[in-house]
Amino acid sequence: MFAGRDVRSDFPTLHQLVGGRPLVYLDNAATTHKPQVVIDALTRYYEKDNSNVHRGLHALSMRATDGYEAARARAAVFINASSPSEIIFTRGTTESVNLVAQSWGQANLKRGNVILLTEMEHHSNLVPWQVVAERTGAVVKYVPVVGDNAEHGLDLDRLDALLTPEVKLFAFTHVSNTLGVINPAAELCRRARAVGALTLIDAAQSIGHESLDVQALGCDFLVYSGHKMVGPTGIGVLYGRRALLDAMPPWQTGGGMISVVEFSGSRWKPAPERFEAGTPNVADAIALHVAMDYLDTLGRPEIALHDHALAEAAYGALAELPGVRLLGPKGKRAGLVSFALKDAHAHDVVTFADQDGIALRGGHHCNQPLMKKLGLPSSVRASFYVYNTPEEIDRLLASLRKIVAFFGRG
Ligand code: PMP
Repeated sequence: MFAGRDVRSDFPTLHQLVGGRPLVYLDNAATTHKPQVVIDALTRYYEKDNSNVHRGLHALSMRATDGYEAARARAAVFINASSPSEIIFTRGTTESVNLVAQSWGQANLKRGNVILLTEMEHHSNLVPWQVVAERTGAVVKYVPVVGDNAEHGLDLDRLDALLTPEVKLFAFTHVSNTLGVINPAAELCRRARAVGALTLIDAAQSIGHESLDVQALGCDFLVYSGHKMVGPTGIGVLYGRRALLDAMPPWQTGGGMISVVEFSGSRWKPAPERFEAGTPNVADAIALHVAMDYLDTLGRPEIALHDHALAEAAYGALAELPGVRLLGPKGKRAGLVSFALKDAHAHDVVTFADQDGIALRGGHHCNQPLMKKLGLPSSVRASFYVYNTPEEIDRLLASLRKIVAFFGRG
């Protein structure tokens, strides 16, 4: 796998004991670990280049500016944006969605307009739209999730009926962080565009696992976080089509985003600076650049195959457990599996597995309305990445068998 490269040796955090056993890290949908090259990039920046960007004329400031803008250009290539000016650095997916909701949303939505979401959205692509709907008089509607357990997916037959001319934006997740469903993003964008609606893709769960091409997808906005793709926390991207960004008002104001300031008023720079008020996160952008290079060295198509294969194997093995309820599709799925055990609460499962050195996640996964619809207070999620192995799935299963036997006793 990955051209014979020992990927695990690139990630220092993996090499530790938890509960006296070698760590099995299966919480990658929450955040991934960082390869040494990314950690080194952060240290190198603070040791050698640390300086504020843009208006600086001294050597360090010019190096910092070059590094920051090179990261932007790399991000544009990474998702095939037509220009670096379509890349805005944010704190992550959540901030990117809030930026679009508060800037584009408040300027363009009015009473009677519809913001279309899906029932499988993460809270960060749901709550900002509820808030902007309340402020503008727009209405939020949802494409239903249908099917049971192994059949879960979006009700695409309902989509045309929901895509009325009142829909101004269709914002949807590429991959569900609970169900592991991979939505047909290009088709969804095409169908939305046919009725004149803009589209926003939440790529938080897909960006680190497969190649994404915003021009082929045909989306208007795409958002993601660096920390879910071997990059640092505190940095993410908002991609927006140039014409849209240029027409959007700023959402935060201050230094760096203005062209002229007078006591009587101010004027703004074009995108991307218009949306990056204040000192930006230079160090993490530079480290994100290294993270993108790292993923492309492994090969994003190869990463997709690896992660999907692990998730399918885990799904098949978990299905053998007594009293298990698996969520999301049985066949092609993203690199994660969520499940509930009849006799054990998700938090107990995660706590017991932790004692065996296995990191899982249990809860509502920021999908409260979806979990309610599924009739579950919580579920357990195992999520996979480049450094996970089939042997780790064996360790997971051995631990879960013990948990099932313990909680099923009485
Ligand atoms: N959307 C999805 C689908 C996610 O899985 C997550 C993170 N769990 C987010 C958005 C939010 O990402 P962040 O917390 O990095 O802003």
